[in-house]
Amino acid sequence: MDYRGLFEDAIDTLRKEKRYRVFADLERVAGHFPRAIFRDSADNAREITIWCSNDYLGMGQHPDVIRAMQETAAKLGTGAGGTRNIAGTNRPLVELERSLADLHRKEAALVFTSGFVSNEAAISTIARLIPNCLVISDQLNHASMIAGVRQSGMEKKIFRHNDMAHLREILEAAGKDRPKMIVFESVYSMDGDVAPIEEIADLAEEFNALTYIDEVHAVGMYGERGAGICEREGLMHRIDIIEGTMAKAFGVLGGYITASQPIVDAVRSYASEFIFTTALPPALCAAARASIEHLKSSSEEREGQQRQAQRLKEILTEAGLPVMPTNTHIVPVIVGDARRCKAASDMLMEKHNIYIQPINYPTVPKDTERLRITPTPLHTDEMLFELRDALVKVWNVLDLPMHTDTSQLTAQALNSGDLVLPTNGG
Ligand SMILES: *Cc1c(COP(=O)(O)O)cnc(C)c1O
Repeated sequence: MDYRGLFEDAIDTLRKEKRYRVFADLERVAGHFPRAIFRDSADNAREITIWCSNDYLGMGQHPDVIRAMQETAAKLGTGAGGTRNIAGTNRPLVELERSLADLHRKEAALVFTSGFVSNEAAISTIARLIPNCLVISDQLNHASMIAGVRQSGMEKKIFRHNDMAHLREILEAAGKDRPKMIVFESVYSMDGDVAPIEEIADLAEEFNALTYIDEVHAVGMYGERGAGICEREGLMHRIDIIEGTMAKAFGVLGGYITASQPIVDAVRSYASEFIFTTALPPALCAAARASIEHLKSSSEEREGQQRQAQRLKEILTEAGLPVMPTNTHIVPVIVGDARRCKAASDMLMEKHNIYIQPINYPTVPKDTERLRITPTPLHTDEMLFELRDALVKVWNVLDLPMHTDTSQLTAQALNSGDLVLPTNGG
């Protein structure tokens, strides 16, 4: 067996399909975000502007957050020193879980290594503990939720993205007596659209189903205290399990769930992904808590972010660029072809020092390849205009479509029938 050749072939397949991923080597400079030092393949360094970070509010460089991490590491050391059960449960982690439960007004919270792990562990464990559970999952759910559903081994049904008539059909077919869990997201991060949470909660009540929401792209960003879309819409108490991350708007690392005490206690007690791994380090927990607590009382970052996102949408749309209309902080600009999407991204970096990673299949459906732009409150108006000018130049050089109707693009691509997304998000 030619093992080396086998892996080379696997990689070649990706290259041929224009799906081979190249990572940008970045050195973010605290205090100057969204500026960063980029090093090309020859290790030549230059300054660029990042336009695709999930550090949506720039909290990764907030002085309180950096200070919490530094001071805690100096006092408590680096690692946690063990699993949660064996010497790893550190004081800042306990305080972090309290802060998260308070954020979502739930009885308890549980922290995991990442948002990915929290979804996989919590969905699979909760579904497995419910006899004959039917898991009902939105078509565009993130790869980590799909992993959780698979891992549970329970029967699953997928409803068309945000389609409440289809969800009702599935619930009716299952009947009121069968145990069910509906899993979905609040903000879908590639199209920037939002789930009809209240309708889902109503249906869940009517059909006696448990509800599990991923608010990863909404925590820190929406609601009076930054608890997400459920908080903004007064619906936190109507959702059984709320999942989030500390790696995006909170600017650090780690994932979590919040729920009733018995649900959290059950996941704590049964989920291997939680039990058999080292706890998060104290410095990281302290930094995450500093960020969460800051955003509970400060709306300045959220408002600045919303303002710049809205401005950018207007500026790009006015210039004729194919911006997908969204009600959220995400600004997708459609290219519709994998090769040209990569070419546009390369040209932005090489000629304009602007970094926007191309988003291709399987993260989004084919023909909806895009540049996914995430402005932060730290992107100045001047930067917005720089970006517009660079995009218009690239669009002209590559002869990319302008003035196209992008409002129904994902739905069309999905309904063309050739795929259910294997992985999305991130
Ligand atoms: C990024 C993401 C996750 C994973 O969170 P991490 O903390 O980065 O592991 C989960 N769900 C969605 C929808 C995401 O986009």
